[in-house]
Amino acid sequence: MIPIQHRDLEKMAQRHWEAIENYMTGKKVKYNIKYYDKKVKKYFPLLSFKEIVLANPNLIDDLASYWDIFVVKDYADFEPLAETSYKSYLTGGETFYSKDKKGNKIYYGSKNLVEGLGISVCPYCNRNYIKLVEVEREETVNNKLIRIDELDHFYPKGKYPFLALSFYNLIPSCKTCNQTFKKEEIVSVNPYSKIEEFSFGLKIKNSKFYYDKDGFCIDYEKAEEVLDKNFEVFHIKDVYDQHKDQILELIQKQITYPDSYIDELFQKYEGTFFRNKEDVIRHLSNGIMEEENFHLRPLSKLTHDIAKELGLLD
Ligand SMILES: [Zn+2]
Repeated sequence: MIPIQHRDLEKMAQRHWEAIENYMTGKKVKYNIKYYDKKVKKYFPLLSFKEIVLANPNLIDDLASYWDIFVVKDYADFEPLAETSYKSYLTGGETFYSKDKKGNKIYYGSKNLVEGLGISVCPYCNRNYIKLVEVEREETVNNKLIRIDELDHFYPKGKYPFLALSFYNLIPSCKTCNQTFKKEEIVSVNPYSKIEEFSFGLKIKNSKFYYDKDGFCIDYEKAEEVLDKNFEVFHIKDVYDQHKDQILELIQKQITYPDSYIDELFQKYEGTFFRNKEDVIRHLSNGIMEEENFHLRPLSKLTHDIAKELGLLD
């Protein structure tokens, strides 16, 4: 798993809230802010609906634990939020909106969230792309609906409907992670949380390791300490085992590219293609990414960690 990082996360959360607020203060809206404030107070006397929507990952954990202890929970209290409103948010219908400087409405939904975060790859598996697609649908006004691949509720909206539109509970993710693996499960680490240092490693099994995938395996020891439940739910070991060929390529490149060749390439293209020797390595190794760009390419964390262990990266 890779963390969701963005310099303006709080600003984005604020915009998310404003879009909800703009819609839910409309005169004709039945389930408005007042309605949800009342329902929230019933279970969380010290909080407002706004505070639920903007709750950070730690507070969300606490709220979910607190919700768990209620013997009688009326799920219908938040059903409109988890069903109609969420669906509208996901599909980008003309419900939520922010305003530009002239006061014009700018419709807001999951597409804006994913585009704003700048994420291209699922943070849970760092394996599948998350793509924005345009789908033509007859029932929509413009005959065009824009949706993202998937949006996962870290705490499932079926069990925790009050968190259905909470910013830090909405995780852009791939279909496999969301629908095939996670479903209603809860994993150990929210991608918006600060994730402790972990890395993938390489374990050599026998002397075939430089030409045969069976000669080595991926070492998860350091990763498992913090991501135990994530690894289990998303079947990380099973799916990553399918990608050992990429590690084999790295092993072979480490052996076959002498330093003199890397130096030669660097000298030739310094200042044009390459800023430093790491850029040359990236070029030769099918584009290993820097840590801050893990969210842009599949398996970037795995290939980065292994390349580092092999001494390809400093
Ligand atoms: Zn995924």
